[in-house]
Amino acid sequence: MSGGLTPRVTAGIDLGAVRHNLARVRAAAPESRVMAAIKADAYGHGAVPVARALADADALAVACVEEALQLRDAGIDQTVVLLEGVLSADEARLCARHRLAVVVHDRQQLTWLGALAETEAVDCWIKLDTGMNRLGFPSTEAARTLEALQATAGCRFIGWMTHLACADERQSPMTAWQIESFDAALRGLPGQRSLANSAGILAHPRAHADWVRPGLMLYGASPFTDERAVDLGLRPVMTLRSRILSMHEVRAGDSVGYGARWHCQRDTRLGVVAVGYADGLHRSLPTSGVRFRVRDAQVELVGRVSMDMISVDLSRVPDARVGDRVTLWGGNPAVEEIAAQAGTLAYESFCGLTRRVKFEYIDSDAAD
Ligand SMILES: *Cc1c(COP(=O)(O)O)cnc(C)c1O
Repeated sequence: MSGGLTPRVTAGIDLGAVRHNLARVRAAAPESRVMAAIKADAYGHGAVPVARALADADALAVACVEEALQLRDAGIDQTVVLLEGVLSADEARLCARHRLAVVVHDRQQLTWLGALAETEAVDCWIKLDTGMNRLGFPSTEAARTLEALQATAGCRFIGWMTHLACADERQSPMTAWQIESFDAALRGLPGQRSLANSAGILAHPRAHADWVRPGLMLYGASPFTDERAVDLGLRPVMTLRSRILSMHEVRAGDSVGYGARWHCQRDTRLGVVAVGYADGLHRSLPTSGVRFRVRDAQVELVGRVSMDMISVDLSRVPDARVGDRVTLWGGNPAVEEIAAQAGTLAYESFCGLTRRVKFEYIDSDAAD
């Protein structure tokens, strides 16, 4: 059906880079096992191919049963953990049938898991709230919760989890405080421990514990605003590209795009690029100062992002042609830069790509 089509917007996904970034996690936290976060379709990168590239991870983490079943349907039989746990007794049964491990963060989930027979027991992580105030039992209830879980036939206790609220802010006292609350709450209690997301892995060795839970860094993006991925030894996994659709000259004083928000200072050759917010490029990008790349040269976004198109200043690429590729993010420019200019984070940029984007999987390791 797609024969003869030239894809407009492509997301090149480098699975060799995923493996490189997993090795970077291992190097940063050599004593810990790795639960790789591939929820939300592997942060928009494609859960099944990314899971296959992560065959060496000790476990995979997804948000919900539906995401886990997608992996099982593809024949992936690694340990899979549901970070939000079950939402009904039916889901508890699915977990038993498909050997899915769950996070338990609410008493109601114990009732649902309690409907299972002992022979069907599901691996359970108890989530404690140490300050994020999102999911989890209060730290003060750790011992009582463990008792309740151990008295529930459908539950096999594995360990304890908590989530760090400010791990990406190196100076925040919050992380040390959360680590201490977690340790104090669990003193004398059995079970494995897990606290660290990517920022925790890279900035807070004390949070490594038995299991680390990297997400963003596996995709080659930096969790810190003051440190680039390349300086952290990470390799970007996704390269988002489109093509020049049309070129034309505009005169000094002309305006470009909706709202006529950008005015030409001098006669300029512009390229219209086939990408817009309907592909996932942020409409909130400013109407000047954002730089993409054509043939190793920078091209500046001019005017507003529309649904299907943007305009760029081609002054620095005199030999540009219609059909040329335009790199929107992936290494240069980094997704973090574009995200920041749009007032968001790489997390949201990745997850915001739409079905119109064509995914192309490559393996930089296999190539050489
Ligand atoms: C998504 C998620 C992670 C991974 O976080 P990153 O910041 O992407 O590394 C870890 N733990 C939990 C509970 C999560 O939901």
